[in-house]
Amino acid sequence: MSRCLADRSIDHVVLERGEVAHTWRTERWDSLRLLTPNWQSRLPGFGYNGDDPDGYRTIPEVIEFIEDYAKAISAPLQTYTTVTSVRSTEAGYLVSTNWGDWKCQTVVLASGACNIARVPPFANLVPSSINTLTAQKYRNPDQLADGGVLVVGASASGTQIAYEVHRSGRPVTLSVGEHIRAPRLYRGKDIEWWMDAAGVLDERYDQVDDIARARRVPSLQLAGTPDRSTLDLNALTKIGVRLVGRLAGIAHDKAQFAGSLRNMCSLSDLKMGRLLDTIDAWARDNGLDSTVEPPDRLPPTRIEDSPPVSMNLTNGEIKTIIWAIGYRPDYKWLEVPVLDRKGMVRHDGGLVASPGIYLMGSQFMRRRKSTLIDGVGDDARDLSAHLASYLDGRALRIVA
Ligand SMILES: Cc1cc2nc3c(=O)[nH]c(=O)nc-3n(C[C@H](O)[C@H](O)[C@H](O)COP(=O)(O)OP(=O)(O)OC[C@H]3O[C@@H](n4cnc5c(N)ncnc54)[C@H](O)[C@@H]3O)c2cc1C
Repeated sequence: MSRCLADRSIDHVVLERGEVAHTWRTERWDSLRLLTPNWQSRLPGFGYNGDDPDGYRTIPEVIEFIEDYAKAISAPLQTYTTVTSVRSTEAGYLVSTNWGDWKCQTVVLASGACNIARVPPFANLVPSSINTLTAQKYRNPDQLADGGVLVVGASASGTQIAYEVHRSGRPVTLSVGEHIRAPRLYRGKDIEWWMDAAGVLDERYDQVDDIARARRVPSLQLAGTPDRSTLDLNALTKIGVRLVGRLAGIAHDKAQFAGSLRNMCSLSDLKMGRLLDTIDAWARDNGLDSTVEPPDRLPPTRIEDSPPVSMNLTNGEIKTIIWAIGYRPDYKWLEVPVLDRKGMVRHDGGLVASPGIYLMGSQFMRRRKSTLIDGVGDDARDLSAHLASYLDGRALRIVA
């Protein structure tokens, strides 16, 4: 957004509570690599120039990439500046920080979609003998006690952490709720390549039937590993991870799992099949059938005959629970009345329900790719155009 505002000669400042790429420095586990290939982190006027376009960046490489971008665009940064409140005034907005106040006509909320790791409402019922932590606080298996680990959540974070923890010698049980399964490679190409080429990631927020639902869909069950392998539930059961259903509650020191594991997995297999059908149709229509490998589908997810529906949490089998059930933004500093009951910003494609405020980086904000590094460019181009018109007094307001 800063780059797009600069292109339009709009005077602005970027306030950051830490250093550039703060969340990548402080909120990710050590072994994490991007699940999007190197070529796919395209920021306005800045892309990948290395010799491994199909590889996946490590965390130090992500930090370097974002730092290099900030330098390349000479972003007007104020680091170590925490926004403590944003309020409406007669002339626009008053933004208060630990380093004083800013008066501005417009505000772009780009504080991230993943500030707080979600935990279930019954997390306080976990017996005190068990350590709990979130995917945001997880760094590596060495920080865990020896013994069994229950990982709750089977999307990108949960499956990656379950794999790593199990490989460290700690038996892992993975609690599986709704998840989106995808092969890493399909017909010889990265699944992200297909989704990008076929326009799946460009699908717009005003083209989907149920945008509220689309905004709640979990991340793809994908990992960016050097061997480009698929990390799905079958890969996990193959190394010995035990699958159980969604954690529905804790009562009398017992974890209770939903009996819907088989259904959840069938649904996920079905949705993966639909995505691959879309890709096959696109490949056929675009004359790629003869140049790529033939369609090859993964076998259905394997589930044991009677997965356990409860687990004793006091018999010593489980020493640690890792919550990997998603993240949410934190807008406690936003004093403009634009939040819904769940604390999410009310907006229409990034136009917030208060004139002159814009949102960035929110799930499926304008496009399916809005939360990806690769997605912010198009959103920033659209919203900076609206912001410029707003400053000129020409913009039409569309309020959610
Ligand atoms: C585990 C994980 C893995 C991911 N993997 C990928 C991936 O492989 N590929 C991909 O494209 N995307 C991935 N993402 C999504 C990724 O977070 C986004 O693509 C990208 O980081 C979003 O950038 P952002 O600037 O919107 O948010 P953030 O990176 O969260 O940046 C927001 C910034 O705002 C600052 N901030 C917050 N509150 C305040 C305040 N009150 N005052 C001042 N500053 C504040 C924060 O310090 C932070 O630096 C992943 C996300 C997670 C959680």
